[in-house]
Amino acid sequence: MATVVVLGAGVSGHTAALTLKRKLGNKHKVVVVSPNSKYQWIPSNIWVGIGRMKSKQVTFPLAPVYQRLGVEFHQAKAVAIHPEGSAQSEKPFVEITYTGQDKQGQQAQVEYDYLVNATGPKLKFEATEGLGPELGYCNSVCTYQHAEHTWDNLQEVFKKMEAGEKQVIVVGTGHAMATCQGAAFEYVLNIAFEVRNRKLEDYAELIWLTNEYEAGDFGMGGAFVNRNGYITSTTVFTESILAEYGIRWITRAGVKKIDADTIYYETLDGGHHELHYDFSMLIPSFSGVGLQAFDKQGRDISDAIFAPNGFMKVDADYTAKPYEEWDADDWPSIYQNPSYDNLYAAGIAFAPPHPISKPMASKNGTMIFPTPPRTGMPSGVIGKVVAMNIADRILSNLQTHQHRASMARMGAACVVSAGYGLTHGMAASMTVFPIVQDWKKYPRWGRDLSYTVGEAGLAGHWIKVVLHYMFLYKAKARPFWWLIPE
Ligand SMILES: Cc1cc2nc3c(=O)[nH]c(=O)nc-3n(C[C@H](O)[C@H](O)[C@H](O)COP(=O)(O)OP(=O)(O)OC[C@H]3O[C@@H](n4cnc5c(N)ncnc54)[C@H](O)[C@@H]3O)c2cc1C
Repeated sequence: MATVVVLGAGVSGHTAALTLKRKLGNKHKVVVVSPNSKYQWIPSNIWVGIGRMKSKQVTFPLAPVYQRLGVEFHQAKAVAIHPEGSAQSEKPFVEITYTGQDKQGQQAQVEYDYLVNATGPKLKFEATEGLGPELGYCNSVCTYQHAEHTWDNLQEVFKKMEAGEKQVIVVGTGHAMATCQGAAFEYVLNIAFEVRNRKLEDYAELIWLTNEYEAGDFGMGGAFVNRNGYITSTTVFTESILAEYGIRWITRAGVKKIDADTIYYETLDGGHHELHYDFSMLIPSFSGVGLQAFDKQGRDISDAIFAPNGFMKVDADYTAKPYEEWDADDWPSIYQNPSYDNLYAAGIAFAPPHPISKPMASKNGTMIFPTPPRTGMPSGVIGKVVAMNIADRILSNLQTHQHRASMARMGAACVVSAGYGLTHGMAASMTVFPIVQDWKKYPRWGRDLSYTVGEAGLAGHWIKVVLHYMFLYKAKARPFWWLIPE
């Protein structure tokens, strides 16, 4: 009997665990280690942060789902990986610390034959002074708990505007190299939609503050999209939406510090600026979650397993190269660690070979540009592909990997939706193929314009609402869940 341990029950890890269980049945063991008792559908946190959904609508308890499927669940945090075992243990294992109320703080070791690290990002609020709801002054929608708190604060802002007080609302990136612009962009559109809905336009100054060189970069170097046969850049697409919603934008901005009412940022031209705000929601930078790794003798081998940003090294080409030499083939396709062949990293947990957007430094040497996004769709696809390859290795003793999912060979859809309900919504929907540009294959635009399309309108909003229910149905492993694509 083989044991596959999955670290993290987010989009990627949960997909991997469900797929592994479906493929392996009861002859093999699937174990999930994750610190939160609940699954959260993170994309809908935006709606929690705008008061259109309660957090219970975007979460559900994981234990009953895993119990029904026969997946062993430890509500715990992985702390260290021992891929060679130890003097006491022949088998590789993971050190875990329990986080649930019943075993809080207790430690254990979980042995594995295969390990999937799908621990996602550490939200690194501490990298920017004053950022974040716990350590600083700034709101977040990155978790459902943050989003709930953010909605409470936003309601106070609406009350002030209703009382005739003007409010400055700043949304965007809270670090010079933050990613996840799409989420922040969706949130600012939702606030703008709500401001308009409440007829408070005269009292709200809305600002989109971003580390992107141009709006619409989204950490993927921007894109050219096909809009009804016309080729439009995502900059034009994004700026026109911002303009339509009365949102002013500040680009090329690396946020350095935030205090109770001011955001301090540097721009690529080397300038230092101060921006007054009454309400802010800024995305932090991401890193790996801080797992360590040790060899059989107990020596720390974390540097060999993880990249300096804490994400796990996989089958990517990590050779340092100038931007001009970046290649689609640098991107990993099976997410296997080069040092240990039974170790994989899925979703945000894998280390990208390099950014997608062109690196930019200010005159003062501050790097200001977005790091690569790994949105829900690729994270789910990668989790599934990793699980299928591991299942093949266990069931057929196949040592080659039949399933591949390079971000330079895969498309992604992104729907940025504002409003709620069937008639009161609007969305900007974008599909890119591939996510990472391939200039050799598509020398003109970097991507295939037959599948790289953008649209604005109510239809995209309906899709987003449908996706919310569809993905939660799938995550709950309801009948025929596997027919729903990632
Ligand atoms: C506000 C917001 C809105 C978004 N909207 C969209 C959208 O509309 N469309 C889209 O495609 N993408 C969206 N994204 C991105 C999407 O949420 C991510 O791509 C996706 O969640 C990544 O999946 P993941 O499994 O890699 O990481 P996560 O979903 O973050 O999962 C990581 C898991 O690992 C667990 N974990 C953490 N540390 C440990 C540890 N030490 N040991 C064990 N487990 C651990 C976590 O608790 C979690 O369960 C959004 C992101 C945010 C923040």
